[in-house]
Amino acid sequence: MEMDTDHTADLTSPTPRALATEAVHAGREDLAGLGLHAPPLDLSTTYPSYDSRAEAARIDAFAAEGALDDGPPVYARLGNPTVGRFETALARLEGTESAVAFASGMAALSAVLLVRASMGLRHVVAVRPLYGCSDHLLDAGLLGTEVTWVDPAGVADAIRPDTGLVVVESPANPTLAEVDLRALAHSCGSVPLLADNTFATPVLQRPAESGAGLVLHSATKYLGGHGDVLGGVVACTEEFARRLRQVRFATGGVLHPLAGYLLLRGLATLPVRMRAASATAARLVRRLTDDPRVGAVHYPRIGGAMVAFEPLGDPHEVIAAVRLITPAVSLGSVDTLIQHPASISHRIVDADDRRSSGVGDRLLRMSVGLEDADDLWDDLDRALSAAESAPDQAPRPRSRAAG
Ligand SMILES: *Cc1c(COP(=O)(O)O)cnc(C)c1O
Repeated sequence: MEMDTDHTADLTSPTPRALATEAVHAGREDLAGLGLHAPPLDLSTTYPSYDSRAEAARIDAFAAEGALDDGPPVYARLGNPTVGRFETALARLEGTESAVAFASGMAALSAVLLVRASMGLRHVVAVRPLYGCSDHLLDAGLLGTEVTWVDPAGVADAIRPDTGLVVVESPANPTLAEVDLRALAHSCGSVPLLADNTFATPVLQRPAESGAGLVLHSATKYLGGHGDVLGGVVACTEEFARRLRQVRFATGGVLHPLAGYLLLRGLATLPVRMRAASATAARLVRRLTDDPRVGAVHYPRIGGAMVAFEPLGDPHEVIAAVRLITPAVSLGSVDTLIQHPASISHRIVDADDRRSSGVGDRLLRMSVGLEDADDLWDDLDRALSAAESAPDQAPRPRSRAAG
């Protein structure tokens, strides 16, 4: 991990600061001057103004440029100061000019697609696997876009005059497959590359430095970090951020201020959480790799707290047998979660597409939390034994289901 020596492109401070410092201070620089220590939580839906001529001018400016001046927001769907602090901090951590927050990761991806489609660029090139619902949103063309699925090597050839976006996850959900983001960004030419950085977080990787124009997070996962807040965010140039704000205003997928507050709070501990959970994950990976009850273990080169593995026994029995580990979808919380992608997170993806992108019927995805590594291993060890002794009912191909 490179976070201790890695310095962010700090836009306000004369000397670059380490990521761990930015995680604690970015978005909070004005607090001491305000006589505050904790960031204020502004729940206002509207903001009083006796000067409606000035309001008109500000709304015109927003409609034309997607930017609001430093005055109070007009209405909460236009912007919120607490959410703004989270956006400032996340942009600093990802090393981008700006960031725009949304109600969820899916709302964030939707807004990016709508920005490009509104420019007449309705074609998307995407690399599987993606998070199941991202795959579904693109594959079903729910927003009127058309997708071409390719391997990373096929991206350049798949780009058409109406291609507005290239979408990739690295490490990917749920297989943890990695792509060379720099090479991929190069093959995108002038088409922006959207890199979903949910699994790596800026602690392990900053895709903007590799040429990804758009960095997306399901903030629900590691950024929040405690399993109690739903959110999404796109880190990008200020130019693209203005378009995203206009779409957010018109379509309404705003992040709630309390969620913004919790996400800003989550960022402060992101580097220590990632470091601790990744160390535990690496220990569990070594044990799983040496274990005769496990057929394959997937762990990315850049590390992280996500582990995927394929038990030789029935994966459903592993899920049924864990006690300390929580059998639940989602990831990135302080506690360890395990789930069966073919049944839950990637259930909505067509079964053949799912399997051909490496999401096999035995694959389990585990999000390693902050518990003691030996306690986690004891639980996994028991669950693997339970799966071995249970009669094998390995999942058979099933029809596609929603949800
Ligand atoms: C969960 C997830 C999403 C979707 O985010 P939500 O906050 O659930 O809408 C997108 N991408 C990845 C990689 C995810 O894990």
